[in-house]
Amino acid sequence: MRNVSVKIFESVIDLLSVNALNQSPDETGGVLVGTRSCTDDLLEYNILGAVGISSFNEFKDIYNATATEFTCTDRMGWAKLALKAVEIYGMSYIGDWHSHPKSNFNNLSPKDISHILQQYELRQFNPFPPLHVLLSWPLGSERVSITANIMLHNNVIAVIKPQIIE
Ligand SMILES: [Zn+2]
Repeated sequence: MRNVSVKIFESVIDLLSVNALNQSPDETGGVLVGTRSCTDDLLEYNILGAVGISSFNEFKDIYNATATEFTCTDRMGWAKLALKAVEIYGMSYIGDWHSHPKSNFNNLSPKDISHILQQYELRQFNPFPPLHVLLSWPLGSERVSITANIMLHNNVIAVIKPQIIE
């Protein structure tokens, strides 16, 4: 089995956290950009930029956000959001993110898993497996924790705490 490494800029953690806390108590989400590489032994992701969908008025009709769910309702719209992030940062679209506000549940929900599995089956990021970053924080706190979830095989997900890039 390949080793998986996920690194992230601290500025991206800050951007995601502020964005997610601003939308609380509703969930929110967006896309990730950066670089990746993949050899037989190692799969590496560097998350170097991100956007939150709530920052763009033009995308307000392509998702539903409640306290327990964040769902994209328009696949083409999501692709346009990804393109927007690629334009802003000049880097590749490498994955998605969303938040679980006021929750001790810092794992993907069954519905989240079916979404990332669908990306895997559609080979959406081929030859790379889909990457999904989840932000969560408990009720009464604003200490956001972050996990990177990578769908390696059908239903086999690597869950990693991203390393901050120095
Ligand atoms: Zn979720």
